[in-house]
Amino acid sequence: MAIISKLNEKLKRVRSLGVLLFIVLILFGVMPVSVYSFISSRLFLSSAISQRISELQSHAAIISNLVVNSGFFTSENVTELNTELNQVADVYRGRILIIDRRLTVVKDTYGFEDGKIIISQDIINTFSGANSKYINNESEYVEITVPIKDSEKKETIGVIFMSFSIENIYTLYRTRLQQNVTFVTVFTVILIVFAVLIVKAVIKPVSSLSSTIKKITAGGEIDSQVNFSGYKEFEDIAASYRDMIAELQTIDESRQEFVSNVSHELKTPITSMKVLADSLVGQEELPVELYREFMQDIDSELERMNNIINDLLTIVKSEGASSTSIVTTVNINEFIEGLLKTLRPIAVERNIELVYETFRPITAEIDEVKLGMAFNNLIENAIKYNYDDGWVRVTLNADYKYFYLKVADSGVGIPEELQSRIFERFYRIDKARSRDTGGTGLGLAITRNAILLHRGAIKVYSKEGQGAVFTVRIPLYFQK
Ligand code: ADP
Repeated sequence: MAIISKLNEKLKRVRSLGVLLFIVLILFGVMPVSVYSFISSRLFLSSAISQRISELQSHAAIISNLVVNSGFFTSENVTELNTELNQVADVYRGRILIIDRRLTVVKDTYGFEDGKIIISQDIINTFSGANSKYINNESEYVEITVPIKDSEKKETIGVIFMSFSIENIYTLYRTRLQQNVTFVTVFTVILIVFAVLIVKAVIKPVSSLSSTIKKITAGGEIDSQVNFSGYKEFEDIAASYRDMIAELQTIDESRQEFVSNVSHELKTPITSMKVLADSLVGQEELPVELYREFMQDIDSELERMNNIINDLLTIVKSEGASSTSIVTTVNINEFIEGLLKTLRPIAVERNIELVYETFRPITAEIDEVKLGMAFNNLIENAIKYNYDDGWVRVTLNADYKYFYLKVADSGVGIPEELQSRIFERFYRIDKARSRDTGGTGLGLAITRNAILLHRGAIKVYSKEGQGAVFTVRIPLYFQK
């Protein structure tokens, strides 16, 4: 077990795409070629041996005929047979024995065994009419036995035993094998060179991307230029990488802009407070009324800063990853009614008519605090950016999937070209007016964040001087 886990450790270290690709290329290249070379050599050997055996068998058949026809076992007229025997034995470099029914060797081309009795299982079996063969691969020879059949008497009258060397076949086989080994070796070397080149070409873009990312991580300049070329997959990665870098740059720029906006927004009240405080400090014996007036101004600047900081905290909370939503099932009709109740006094102050229309009872899963703030901003804006004696109409409706809130007003309206910008943080069309009404320019950004958190949508329709309509769509069931 310890060895296996050690091996696993080692394998993990070399678990690189390059190494894997290299191994696969080599394995799938070299293995089939080696196996094929080996098998083809073996096939050559066995087919050459079988061919030799069948040649010998056909010679044996000829000899068998000659034995029967010449009446070899009885007569002395055997010249033709002897010639054939010697020829075959010479050409194939082997030995031929002819054995009669008494298992006596009547002819041995080597002349050693003439007249001797031979007892061998193969020969005895051959008398029952079957051929036999025996291949000795170590000593590189074959032995075959063929029955001599007398077709008239329909009996086996003797056996031809042949023993031949197949050394020359083996020599050919070994030469062939040697050639194949040389071929496989050369092929492997070429394949290794190719594999190294291919692996390098494939891995290079990945390494280049990895080193670019490392550079960025180490605090280097963000470089969107990665040189990925050739393969579609890598070009896709490069495209995604460039998109990601563009997105990062946008986030970075927007963060910088946000910080400078925040500093600027907070600087304005601080500067005016400093001016007010300096003028109080620099003058002696000021009347109490002037003190009070200045202090009131300082108080309203403090109030403004407080508003900005509160709004900023809300934005940071809603944008942060740690933002948690407390979702409950809420009666939306009553929920909107509650919001209107707190806003009505501001409307009454400027004689603005606040109308609420609702078409059906609606319940939905929402984060009451966040969506409350969002809807509150919309209705408050409709009152703030309205003319005295104007109207604000809030309409609530729903279908089986969403509920819809519409806030329409008779106010100053929003020029078409600025409609996409009003959701940006700190964006205000009329700075002075927004300032007078205590606006921070963060309200609609907060509203949009809350609506997106609910996977809803917000749209604005307006023309300058002709009022504005904000429509919001929120799913009835909260989706994470
Ligand atoms: P503010 O705190 O200034 O109200 P918001 O983010 O709520 O900030 O709104 C951004 C700007 O959009 C406002 O300054 C205002 O100029 C414009 N705006 C928002 N709602 C309306 C509306 N109902 N009618 C006209 N202008 C609007």
